[in-house]
Amino acid sequence: MAGRTITDAYVNGRICYPWPMNYCSQCGEPISRAIPPGDNRIRYVCASCGMIHYQNPRIVAGCVPEYQDRILLCKRAIEPRSGFWTVPAGFMELDETLPDAAARETLEEANARVEIGAMIASVDVIQARQVHVFFAARLTDPGFSAGAETLATRLYDAESIPWDELAFPSVRIALQQFLRNRESGQDDLLVCEAPRQKIR
Ligand code: ZN
Repeated sequence: MAGRTITDAYVNGRICYPWPMNYCSQCGEPISRAIPPGDNRIRYVCASCGMIHYQNPRIVAGCVPEYQDRILLCKRAIEPRSGFWTVPAGFMELDETLPDAAARETLEEANARVEIGAMIASVDVIQARQVHVFFAARLTDPGFSAGAETLATRLYDAESIPWDELAFPSVRIALQQFLRNRESGQDDLLVCEAPRQKIR
């Protein structure tokens, strides 16, 4: 494999490959890091079989489920941010659509069935290498309870949302946009970047 070989994990102070890889998943040989010809980023490149292992952002799909003007939140039972409140959301799986992913996460985390509505927020979470996509949603029946990854589920009035106990900045963004839309009667889509946090 031609291309410059890079030994430093950082370029211009930024980590260029978030998910460490030691061996090629294609052939099992030790992996190298290089900028492939015609590329401008460090990639995991297999010198043995030539495979380039691209790493790209992961998609998290979620929704803001509403029932009789109240919003369903879940208290996380898993890290990161265990014990903090979130809307139902999680990693999109292969072979499903974004709305399907949001509905599935709601069923898994809150045992709640939802009708997915408009997409209301797309949040780039650069540090986590994720894109968080949120939909408005409606509980189709009043039944809900904590799923395996959830400590508690609860319906909140807009006035009682626990803003200081939310799990992630993107959850705050989604809830704010949901409430703005409800106020205006619009289905506006907010595209934004989550605030970057200080690197420890
Ligand atoms: Zn290989």
